[in-house]
Amino acid sequence: MTLAADGLPPLREVIAAHGLSARKGLGQNFLLDLNLTGKIARRAGDLAACDVLEVGPGPGGLTRALLAQGARRVVAIERDARCLPALAEIAAAWPGRLEVVEGDALAVDAAALLRPPIRIVANLPYNVGTELLVRWLTPPAWPPFWTSMTLMFQKEVAERIVAPPGSKAYGRLAILAQWRCAARIAFELPPRAFTPPPSVTSAVVHLDALPEPRFPADPGTLSRVVALAFGQRRKMLRASLRPLGPDVEAWLGAAGIAPTDRAETVDIERFCRLARIVAANESGRASPPGR
Ligand code: SAM
Repeated sequence: MTLAADGLPPLREVIAAHGLSARKGLGQNFLLDLNLTGKIARRAGDLAACDVLEVGPGPGGLTRALLAQGARRVVAIERDARCLPALAEIAAAWPGRLEVVEGDALAVDAAALLRPPIRIVANLPYNVGTELLVRWLTPPAWPPFWTSMTLMFQKEVAERIVAPPGSKAYGRLAILAQWRCAARIAFELPPRAFTPPPSVTSAVVHLDALPEPRFPADPGTLSRVVALAFGQRRKMLRASLRPLGPDVEAWLGAAGIAPTDRAETVDIERFCRLARIVAANESGRASPPGR
């Protein structure tokens, strides 16, 4: 058997040897080209001094690339027990550098398993990808446990993460991501890059955590305001935000937002201003002057 550059078998042989037929329910679209997984790992930046969190290593193509790029340590959370023997072979080839955790990434306290600085790098399962991203973006305190995230999504989700105000894709995800991160699409991958090919194009998004949010706001209040605003994105804000209370038109005015505006035209700065006004009024305090 011809071995790959890292001394391990090619991924197609790993998949055949361990019977890893892809399961749709687990979002399994594998990357078998180690050049592509290497490209993703390189986009994550310098890994040598970092612990890396990977969700969904599957047969381990990206895991191998992260280790080959010099990651200090990789912690990989995988739900499919069928993948564990293949991942154990990788761990044996990189002694002390790979820890595999069997489980649901939504239920594992990953931060507790890693030592800072931490980068998150993953070809995420599409069924839980957005939920994981929102969790990583919305810890109560900032900076978060990670310094950067390099994540594969469906292209349509990637576009929602980086969308500017006024665009069709602009919404809750754009605001939560861009409020506290610098986010950009690194590159796209066509369906044929995956086995089996998904029905849509994918894209790798890279997010760097900013040292502090672009504008002050309570994350819980901002999330709630933005969810309401975009819950009915075609409606004027005075209607979609009515559940916030009877004073909502005055609060919109104080935030510099016309009550007749629609959510997609309001930038992050004004949503943060509105969230501060809402939080101040809900806690019975006056809104801080000039904010
Ligand atoms: N990283 C591999 C690659 O690039 O070829 C596999 C990526 S595949 C898109 C997603 C992986 O996530 C699968 O291995 C799947 O079993 C795993 N997975 C699905 N749901 C998961 C969950 N809730 N927690 C952890 N892993 C999960």
